[in-house]
Amino acid sequence: MTTIIKNGTIVTASDTVQADVLIDGEQVALIGRDLQADDAEVIDATGKLLLPGGIDVHTHLDLPFGGTIASDDFLTGHRAAAFGATTCHIDFVIQPMGGTLHEGVEEWHKKAEGKASIDYGFHIAITDLRDDVMEEIPTMIDEGITSLKLFMAYKGLFQIDDTTLFRAMLRAAEHGMLIMVHAENGDVIAELTKKLLNEGKTDTKYHAAAHPAMAEAEATGRAVALSGITGAPLYVVHMTCEEAVEQLALGRAKGFPVMGETCTQYMFVFEEHLALPNYEGAKYVCSPPVRKRKDAPVLWKALADNTLQAVSTDHCPFWFEGGKEGRIPGKELGRESFHQVPNGMPGIEDRMPVMWHHGVNMGRYSANRFVEITSTNPAKIFGLYPRKGTIAVGADADIVIWDPEKEHTISAKTHHMNTDYNVYEGMTVRGWPERVLLRGKTIVDGDAWLGQPGTGQFLKRSPGAEVL
Ligand SMILES: [Zn+2]
Repeated sequence: MTTIIKNGTIVTASDTVQADVLIDGEQVALIGRDLQADDAEVIDATGKLLLPGGIDVHTHLDLPFGGTIASDDFLTGHRAAAFGATTCHIDFVIQPMGGTLHEGVEEWHKKAEGKASIDYGFHIAITDLRDDVMEEIPTMIDEGITSLKLFMAYKGLFQIDDTTLFRAMLRAAEHGMLIMVHAENGDVIAELTKKLLNEGKTDTKYHAAAHPAMAEAEATGRAVALSGITGAPLYVVHMTCEEAVEQLALGRAKGFPVMGETCTQYMFVFEEHLALPNYEGAKYVCSPPVRKRKDAPVLWKALADNTLQAVSTDHCPFWFEGGKEGRIPGKELGRESFHQVPNGMPGIEDRMPVMWHHGVNMGRYSANRFVEITSTNPAKIFGLYPRKGTIAVGADADIVIWDPEKEHTISAKTHHMNTDYNVYEGMTVRGWPERVLLRGKTIVDGDAWLGQPGTGQFLKRSPGAEVL
């Protein structure tokens, strides 16, 4: 099957060029002016931009967490992602407590089986780093899993000590694997949580008080230093604040192989949202927590100047009013205390339009930089480039036909995520995906869903992350 997308403007991380794209089967076969092919389906993209499909490298679909399960699985999560111009994501496999990494991987493959309609890869999140698991780490490469996440927080549960982190870094570096860290000082958080609860401070607003910015900055700085000592490439997930970004910038200035991401919500939701009445604050409980308004411009600037290399979502949705109307339990589980609120927010569908509107339209970065932080850098860092992350001959034809003029008001009433609220409710954005192609096949056309469960491919990723 051949398709020609005519008269569009291709935007990649490095170029903006008006050209036709010829797709043969699943890949881009030719890029040029006035392309012709017999029997090709022709899509007219006059006035539209062609962007590489979004890649969200931080998601949690079907994740058991906090006494319930994230409300989007690989069926609903993939459909929602596609409607938001994301055609590929990397989800976190969670090692079962007491179990092996392979057991976790097998479980996650089952979750995706028959449901996946966009392409996906896995990171491995290590929860129990025993000696035998340390040995198991390099065998993940055969599974196509080349990045591992370690937790510096969640004391008594997932948290690892510095010896273990240091050893894991050495091991990862030896095999070209990338270390990702949840950087918060879990000892500090555990003590502060205990103190707050003892004082009867259980409201959702105390979630932020239990997770100070400096606890994130300290852990970030510690991980950055260990990366500097070991030479192991490091990717700090979900960075939220000026204090932490400063630590990353310091490491980068010293030439350490350290990178970081932020997530869309940290530029739009703040501590004051946690204090909203009627338990509304629970919608915005995630870890690390939302921060102060003063942090947002720091994150925007870091995304623009490459202190941060990527923006992801940490998509981990829960119903606000779960446990009724056939819904699984959700945020209501934390009504008694902030420390019992399931942590996470929906966002896999919103990232591309929100980051376009507030980034490109508002003049914070160029359209090329938008492509870089939402697609190209994620592909390069996580071993998917050049198959994914750009529009080029030989690359998968994951192409978004983007209407830069179309306005849309975001709402839970019209979104496709399996949640009863949207973090960006009422936000009007300009720039919207008109049509989304995955490996040459249209999966979203306007409001129509054309994707097929079971056709999303698991992507085996290569080791040797690019440090950008
Ligand atoms: Zn996460």
